[in-house]
Amino acid sequence: MSVAPAPALGLDDRFAREFGEMAVPWRAQEVPDPRLLVLNEPLAAELGLDPAWLRSSDGLRLLVGNLVPRGATPVAQAYAGHQFGGFVPRLGDGRALLLGEVVDAGGALRDLHLKGAGRTPFARGGDGQAAVGPMLREYVVSEAMHALGIPTTRSLAVVATGRPVRRETLLPGAVLARVASSHLRVGSFEYARVTGDVDLLRRLADHAIARHHPGAAAAERPHLALFDAVIAAQASLVARWMLVGFVHGVMNTDNMTISGETIDYGPCAFMEAFDPGTVYSSIDAGGRYAYGNQPVVAQWNLARLAEALLPLFDDDQEQAVELAVASLGAFGGQYSAAWSAGMRAKLGLPDGVDDAVTAPLVDELLALLQHSHVDHTSFFRHLGTAARGDAEPARGLFLDLEGFDAWAQRWRALGPAAAVMDRVNPAYIPRNHLVEEALAAATDGDLEPFERLLDAVTAPYDERPGLQRYAAPAPQDFGAYRTFCGT
Ligand code: AMP
Ligand code: MG
Repeated sequence: MSVAPAPALGLDDRFAREFGEMAVPWRAQEVPDPRLLVLNEPLAAELGLDPAWLRSSDGLRLLVGNLVPRGATPVAQAYAGHQFGGFVPRLGDGRALLLGEVVDAGGALRDLHLKGAGRTPFARGGDGQAAVGPMLREYVVSEAMHALGIPTTRSLAVVATGRPVRRETLLPGAVLARVASSHLRVGSFEYARVTGDVDLLRRLADHAIARHHPGAAAAERPHLALFDAVIAAQASLVARWMLVGFVHGVMNTDNMTISGETIDYGPCAFMEAFDPGTVYSSIDAGGRYAYGNQPVVAQWNLARLAEALLPLFDDDQEQAVELAVASLGAFGGQYSAAWSAGMRAKLGLPDGVDDAVTAPLVDELLALLQHSHVDHTSFFRHLGTAARGDAEPARGLFLDLEGFDAWAQRWRALGPAAAVMDRVNPAYIPRNHLVEEALAAATDGDLEPFERLLDAVTAPYDERPGLQRYAAPAPQDFGAYRTFCGT
């Protein structure tokens, strides 16, 4: 084992120092033979990390947690969570570590976090491991989300460990280096609340305000303002998911951030044929986290956040509940406003058009899409072509041609702007069959399909020749798609 002095790298241990009650100092498992599968060079540069150094043997040791920079204290973070509606008071990082925080090029604090770094005291029955496939999946989907302009945790690197992981079969193991504006979750506050330590809860809320929602500090009730800010961030986030057809798949409260970034890409998938009932996760038998339920679930999760924060809203708990209920009531309006504005942009509608005209137009469109099982992404992209005068590519997606023609006539009369549409309707998303193809190849040692897919989806609005296959829905024989948790 080399004993080169650890570089400083500017990693702070702020969470570890300030929240010892929720952070267990821990070390990653030894990885004797780390091999880099993918490195996000632009993100590395943003963090002030030298990509060439990250590719070196010491760099790889950092990326799997075996080289701990001076000043860093890797910790497993504690959090609680409502999983499929049931409360679990102690979850925490079972296979992940927060390596520390780094100040990025823009002056913001970012968490550097490792997933698949071995068992921690929160591992319960889990093996602490992660497989190459699911870690590359998080990498490609999170980077696609970022390129789509949707707030998300980022992926810095995936490093193969050389250690086999036992799932249904033996799979190659990997560690994902993830970057987030923080790993504070709704479940972090639920954890602090159940400790009964109101001072801890207050410090955590103040930390969240300083880090994510500094405007709340000046409010008359800063902690209520924090709650309002999280509501606004989540209303906007979930609206963006809905507009691109993203199904998170496991919206437990431990998988919902305070920052408003998408986190934890487990059984997530992009919807193809438009249907609010779309569910991919094999464990979501009841469809709790179906595409169309996501706004309602987000609000339900925010109610759990309110319960955790109640002692901070007011000394009088009845009054605190009243305040929380009033705040939570704003979610629906904020969500609808964000979604409607996004939908108008997807349809290229000019600002002046009255809601009384656009709302029924949108409702009718969604009914047509659902009835004809139309591929969500292709439809909106082709609609840009329709705005330029050629409706055939969009029209060809419908079974109900008359219905589409009547709708399109009304839509065209509003003067849609094709250029606006092309900037908000992606040509390329990580389609399920392409993701599976890329991960299967990578698991067998061939990274080329993964690299090509990554290339397509990280410039999603920029249609390029030769990438037609990345813009097309899954072939019929791909069948019904299922995703799995316990990745
Ligand atoms: P998730 O549903 O993936 O967000 O994870 C829920 C909980 O299970 C978290 O506490 C994770 O840390 C933990 N977990 C998931 N997979 C593993 C694993 N392979 N080993 C240990 N803990 C795990
Ligand atoms: Mg999670």
